[in-house]
This record gives sequence, structure tokens and C-alpha cells, in this order.
Amino acid sequence: MTPDELSGLLAAFPATSLGHFPTPIDATPRLGGKLGLGLSVKRDDATGLAFGGNKVRQLEFYFGKALAQNADTVLITGAVQSNYVRTAAAAAAKLGLRCHVQLEDRVPLYNESYVNSGNTLLNKLLGAIVHTYPEGEDEAGADARLHEIADEDRRNGFNPYVIPLGPGNPPTGGLGYVACAIELAQQVDDIESFDAFVVPSGSGMTHGGFLVGLRAMGIKTPVYGICVRRGADVQAERIVNNCQNIEELLGAPSTVTAVDVNTSDAVLSPGYGQLNDATFEAVLMAARTEGLMLDTVYSGRALAGLVHLADKGVIAAGSKVLFLHTGGTPALFGYSEVLNDRLAIEIPAE
Ligand SMILES: *Cc1c(COP(=O)(O)O)cnc(C)c1O
Repeated sequence: MTPDELSGLLAAFPATSLGHFPTPIDATPRLGGKLGLGLSVKRDDATGLAFGGNKVRQLEFYFGKALAQNADTVLITGAVQSNYVRTAAAAAAKLGLRCHVQLEDRVPLYNESYVNSGNTLLNKLLGAIVHTYPEGEDEAGADARLHEIADEDRRNGFNPYVIPLGPGNPPTGGLGYVACAIELAQQVDDIESFDAFVVPSGSGMTHGGFLVGLRAMGIKTPVYGICVRRGADVQAERIVNNCQNIEELLGAPSTVTAVDVNTSDAVLSPGYGQLNDATFEAVLMAARTEGLMLDTVYSGRALAGLVHLADKGVIAAGSKVLFLHTGGTPALFGYSEVLNDRLAIEIPAE
């Protein structure tokens, strides 16, 4: 399929414009030099809306749906420092909709900045109605609570739209990363000159959508998903499912199979949202070689994953690699105690 043909399939879905596209691609020779790679970075942290990030692309399709249903309120659930939640709150504000956000207790971190700075501060500034959910690994339960809040809104005369993110819901957000693959193919002279793409892999709508988009256009370049929440095998299964669901939703031929899905969990420990040495070092490396800010939950971990793949030779020395920077930078401030503790060790006091 040509990029135009694939765009034609996407055009069947209602979408609303929220961000700045195309996002730039930066040459990052000093960072690439450290890794022994010809590295560039696609700046999806720079999607424009309220500090940007990958959720802007995904939400263009969810809010398109919400508006098509004449919703006056949207509801979304996520981790306390969720970028999805913050970006949805911003999109709702921009479109004049009410927004309920539900913050799940997913990360065992209760200091001042994690609870009150970064994205949680932004949610309040953006005017979202904030709820909390006491469990971290109960996707179905968190969704059910969101639907209860929506029911209550309905009784009060509102028309709510729940942004459904759990497995079993249509992979609407994945369409945003099909669009990103098209954008990339149209933006570079020769997309097939890249040897590898590296993306973080969480819910897998970014990884899945991007992979579906590439393969639908006949681009066979490997895509490495760096696991940020689940182990590599579980995540690979999830991505295969996501891809099939996205292809089905799009009405595209089924092209992605298990051999297309690469996942690495080498830098996942000790778990979602918890800083480890490799991620801390990756955040410093990007900051100090390129002035490029990554976050500790997603993009820093993804770079740490790339460092690991390059070290192990999975991505060969000298390869031309595109790293997808998915944003998340406001969450850095939610980790300020954690980061300052690390920096105090790295830079001993006089
Ligand atoms: C949500 C998020 C991801 C993961 O994207 P998925 O589509 O959920 O896999 C990566 N990076 C950032 C900054 C995010 O906020």
C-alpha cells in the first residue's frame, strides 16, 4: 500500500486536530557517537499540546469519536503521573469539554513531588476533576469505576465519553501511530535507509500502530519495543494482538506476525515507573550530549533499552537508527526527590 492509500483508510475515522505535525527529526551525533550508531530522534515529545508527547496523536482519534457522539465530558484513567491523563485534560480544555481523570495507585512512591508536581499539578491547572483509584494492577476494576462516574454524570444530564484503554476495547489510539508511520515515510528521503526503529512499549498502541503502519506500506525495517511495564514475552503477545486488532479496525490486510514483534525487557527491573541505574544514566546521557530531555518512566527507559541492544550487538555498530521520543518530560518533575537523591551521589557535596 502507498502512504496515500493508507491515509485513505485512516480518513474513515473521525479525528480532531490537537497537535503540531509533522514532528521534527533531530540529528543527534553526540548521543549517537556514544552508542556507536548513526542516531536520529523523532521528536514526538514536541507534538505541541500541553508539553506534548505520544498521547496527542492517540487522542486526536479518541476526541474525534467523542465529538462525533456530541460528548460534553470525557473520562480517562491512568497512573498518578500519567501523561495520557494530563494530555486528555488539556485536549478537553481546548475543546471546551469537562474532564474526569482517575489516578491509579500504580507506583509505590508517595513523596511530595510524585503526588503534587509534574502531571498531577498540570491536571489541576487544566481544570480536570480528579479522582483516585487505590489499585495499580486492576485494569478492569479501574475501567468499571470510570463507568460508574460516567453513569452518575448521565443521571445529572451530561453526555460523557469514556476513553476506553483496557484490552478488549477498539485500538483507536493505535490509529495515531499508523498516522505517525505515514508521516515519517513522507518526511524522510528514504525510510528504508534506516536499519532499526526503537520505541517504548507500554499499552502498545504506539508500538503496535507504528508497526502496522510500516508493514502496511511494505516497509520491513525492524521495530524494537522497549518494555516499560510488562515482561518481554507477555508484551510481545500483547503487541501481536494489538497489531491484528488495529489492522482489523483499519480494514487493512493482515501483515504483522509474531516475527515482526521485537520486545526487550532488559531494563524493566524493578518495574513500571521505578527508576533504575540504566534509565538514570540514559536520562543524563541524552541531557548532557544533546540537551535532550527524556523522562524516567518511558523515554529514558527506552533509550536505556537502546543502549543495551547496541551493547549486545542486537543492533549492530554503525547502524542507522531512529529513536522515537514519546515525551513524558513533565513527569521528570514528579521524580525530583528520586532524581536529586541520585544526583547527590553522582555529584558529591563539597
Ligand atoms: C504512554 C506513554 C508511552 C507508551 O505508549 P503506549 O502507546 O502506551 O505503549 C511512552 N512514552 C510516554 C512518554 C508515554 O506517556
